[in-house]
Amino acid sequence: MMRAMSATSPKVIAIDGPAASGKSTVAKELAHRLKVTFISTGSMYRAVTWWVLESGVTPSDTEGVVELLESTEIRCGQENQIGTVAIGSSEVLGPEQLSATAVNDHVSTVAAIPEVRARLVAEQRRYAQESGIVMEGRDIGSVVFPDTPYKFFITASEEVRQARREAQGIMDKISERDQKDKSRKASPLVIPEDAIVIDTSELGIEQVVQRVLEEIEKIS
Ligand code: C5P
Repeated sequence: MMRAMSATSPKVIAIDGPAASGKSTVAKELAHRLKVTFISTGSMYRAVTWWVLESGVTPSDTEGVVELLESTEIRCGQENQIGTVAIGSSEVLGPEQLSATAVNDHVSTVAAIPEVRARLVAEQRRYAQESGIVMEGRDIGSVVFPDTPYKFFITASEEVRQARREAQGIMDKISERDQKDKSRKASPLVIPEDAIVIDTSELGIEQVVQRVLEEIEKIS
C-alpha cells in the first residue's frame, strides 16, 4: 500500500506526454492514491481556447487573443482535489466545453502563444504553493517545474493513441496536434532529459500506476 504524501514527500509529480497517451488517467489515479491534487494543464489551455471561440476571436489572431485575455479573469481552483477552471463569465467548465471538437481543433494554436503560456504557467505554479500535486501536460517537467525530481513522460504508439480516442467517441486529430505541440517555439513538447519514459502501448492503467509509484519510492 502506498502512503499518502507527508511533509517530506514529493510536492510536485510532473507527467508529460503526447495526446491520448493515457497520462491523464494515470495522473488522476496517482493523485488519488497519494491523496494530492490532480491538475490537467490541458484543461487550462482548453478553457482559454473555449473562451476565445465563445468570444468570436479567431484563434490564429494572436494579437486578438492576447488582447482578449488582458480583460479576462481566469479562475483556477479545485474541487475534491481535482483542478477546475472558470473563465470570463463562465461557471466551472466541464467536458462538454473542454472536449468540444472545435476546442480540439484549435487548442494547439492558442497554446502556442507565449502570452497565453506565461499566464497559465503562473497559475500552475500557484497550485504547488497550496498543496502536493500531480500535474500533467506537455511542458511540466521541462518548463513549469524543471526542479522536481519526479518527472515522467508517458507515451504510446500513434495507432494505440488514435484507437483510444476513437473508443472515447471523441473527434480529435491527435497527430496534427502533436505535430504542432512539438514544433512550436514556446515550450514545445519534449522529453525532459531526466524524465522516466513509460510506453503504455501494451500496459494497463494499473501497471503504469504501479511503475510510477515504484519509481517515486526509489527517488524519495
Ligand atoms: O492534454 P490535452 O490533450 O488536454 O491538451 C490539449 C492541448 O493543450 C495540447 O494539445 C497542447 O496544445 C496544449 N497543452 C500545452 N501545454 C500543456 C498542456 C496542454 O501546450 N502543458
